[in-house]
Amino acid sequence: MCGIVGYVGRKTSAMEVLIDGLRRLEYRGYDSAGVAILDEGSILVRRALGKLANLEGVLRDKPVAGHIGIGHTRWATHGKPSERNAHPHCSGSVSIVHNGIVENYRQLRVELESAGRTVESDTDTELIAHLIDQRVEAGDDLLAAARAACARLAGSYAFAVISSADPHRVVAAKNGGSPIILGLGEKEAFLASDIPAILPYTRQMISLRDGEFAVLSDEDVVLIDSEGRSFEREPMAIQWDPVSAEKGGYDRFMQKEIFEQPRAVMDTIGTRVSEEDCDVDLDGIEISPEMAERISRIQLVACGTAYYSCKVGKLLYEQIAGIPTEVDLASEFRYRRPVLDEGCVVVPVSQSGETADTLAALREGKQRGAHVISICSTR
Ligand code: GLU
Repeated sequence: MCGIVGYVGRKTSAMEVLIDGLRRLEYRGYDSAGVAILDEGSILVRRALGKLANLEGVLRDKPVAGHIGIGHTRWATHGKPSERNAHPHCSGSVSIVHNGIVENYRQLRVELESAGRTVESDTDTELIAHLIDQRVEAGDDLLAAARAACARLAGSYAFAVISSADPHRVVAAKNGGSPIILGLGEKEAFLASDIPAILPYTRQMISLRDGEFAVLSDEDVVLIDSEGRSFEREPMAIQWDPVSAEKGGYDRFMQKEIFEQPRAVMDTIGTRVSEEDCDVDLDGIEISPEMAERISRIQLVACGTAYYSCKVGKLLYEQIAGIPTEVDLASEFRYRRPVLDEGCVVVPVSQSGETADTLAALREGKQRGAHVISICSTR
């Protein structure tokens, strides 16, 4: 899970928007950070190992002007955390930031190297840059090149790409679990992995769906479906308070989250539980009282910290509801061919809602006929 951000517009400097957005996305990865900004026809890249503060130091020494750019904060999957593996990755005129995993990485790398391409990093992301650059060199515009590259990719991705050969636009693509949110401004446009990153700039947002592309310019944002046709989607007007999405005065996100636990629990269940009537209001959750009666077993699935919270969940479900509960690591769940039936409720738990193995477990549960109720911290 990485954080990506993009900007195009005349009002603000790209560097400012990108760094500001990355600050709010830093929880998504702190292996390295980087930006690529188009200035007077050429792309300037700044990258640094470790936290965003290191990149800010680099940019203080070597600032970049320009009004179109992309930025990234990395959580490495392919290649160790290093400056060389930091995004943005470049090939020819193209520079890209990516969130996700290219599953056919090995095959593509061999193919690109035999076609004479020098791959500089160990990442899967750089291969996408080469695939797009091949098409740009062949005369495609940036959107056509990105679409052609995506046709070659297996796996999940959300990416944003710029090219000095097509210097007025940012192209974004999404497929699989990784999110992309587009922000609409006046003569400017934004994109990011989540809403809070660009909330100070606009409240008009569009969520890109799987298989879709977006072309951002300082004139408009054009949405393109998987067949290459443009289409419209009504933007959402976001009402949230940006401050509650940040560190709120604490030094660390983890510290903030620990201290927020009593309030988070109250906010989540407080309005649904009535101690007086000894009743629970499940409005909006698809589970009827009859269905609840039929639950014979609960199957929790999650990864990492969410897995440990499920262990606590197991105790609570068994002690309070008296329903036998199992906890599985989501990465193992689908391979052990779990026995699931109609009386079983599968509960995938993921903070981001993007954990690939947990999403796979969710699909497994549905396929095998279990009732699925997910718990995650994002909309
Ligand atoms: N696969 C890319 C990398 O390792 C992106 C990682 C991610 O989205 O977490 O750099």
